Amino acid sequence: MIDLRSDTVTAPTPGMRAAMAAAEVGDDVYAEDPTIRALEERTAELLGHEAGLFCVSGSLSNLLGVRALVAPGQEVLCDADAHIARAEMGAHGALSGLTMRTWASTRGVAELSAIESMLAPDAGPYLVSTAAVALENTHNFGGGTIQPFDHLRAVHDLCRGHGIGLHLDGARLWNAHVATGVALADYGRLFDTVSVCFSKGLGAPIGSMLLASADVMAEARVWRKRLGAGWRQAGVLAAAAVYALEHQVDRLAEDHLAARELAYAVADRAPVAVDPATVETNIVVIDTGSTPAGRVAEQARAAGVAVSALGPRMVRAVTHLDVTVAESRRAGEVLGDLLA
Ligand SMILES: *Cc1c(COP(=O)(O)O)cnc(C)c1O
Repeated sequence: MIDLRSDTVTAPTPGMRAAMAAAEVGDDVYAEDPTIRALEERTAELLGHEAGLFCVSGSLSNLLGVRALVAPGQEVLCDADAHIARAEMGAHGALSGLTMRTWASTRGVAELSAIESMLAPDAGPYLVSTAAVALENTHNFGGGTIQPFDHLRAVHDLCRGHGIGLHLDGARLWNAHVATGVALADYGRLFDTVSVCFSKGLGAPIGSMLLASADVMAEARVWRKRLGAGWRQAGVLAAAAVYALEHQVDRLAEDHLAARELAYAVADRAPVAVDPATVETNIVVIDTGSTPAGRVAEQARAAGVAVSALGPRMVRAVTHLDVTVAESRRAGEVLGDLLA
């Protein structure tokens, strides 16, 4: 099976497993795990922030980051297809007591004016006040889209001007960094809180990180424990992330090449299903036209290719370190034949 459902399906490589087995560990609830501390310091420096907090999932680091900026009864603004809005089980409402309003976008990138027109920082006694904006880079359901750096800077300036916080869901910020060459810290410094994942394209089995100021992090650490997500000798997991940072960032370029090859193979057979020019990183979103996405995913699976049906007419293929460029091309041929 060529499994392209997500880049979360990767297994730890032999080198990563060896690093995990050799990790020095301690009790992280006491902040005494040396491997976690080293990972937090290193990642904070990479992202241009003061402090980091190693978390079990990106859903948790997003939850902690957004709640640091938005009090109960206030709102966060985000894209209608944002992961925080669609794929985190309503956690931000259910657990943080905040509301969300969403803007429409093209493949995950909004017009600045669409964001600006929604800002309501001091909405008075009748309307909900905006406390934060959240962006996603790369944009998952948008098709791995990179947010243009000038756009990010403009949103930053807008939020600063209105005293509104800015959160980045950077689950795949590594992919944006590798594709554009923009330094991680240049991205990171535009945001008050940043979440990154080690368990996607980087190939670690578990783990995400929240980055922010030391003050925000002290409070986030309390909330992580309050939510039952304090952990102990998790340095064995942090070691996988350290290994991924050292060995598995630059190779993301290969995943991007594989995604483009897949898209070209689909488009050769079914030109309306995907425009290869829109494939910027490791995600390919395919329009299944008149065929329900679920049926296409089922037929593809029968032919040895696993993809995700994420909408009534949309399937997603994600390339990663456990599939080769040739396998990705082959998957594109299978999908293209089904859609032709
Ligand atoms: C995967 C992902 C997350 C985090 O997902 P978890 O499964 O909770 O780790 C957050 N944001 C985006 C855009 C993602 O793709």
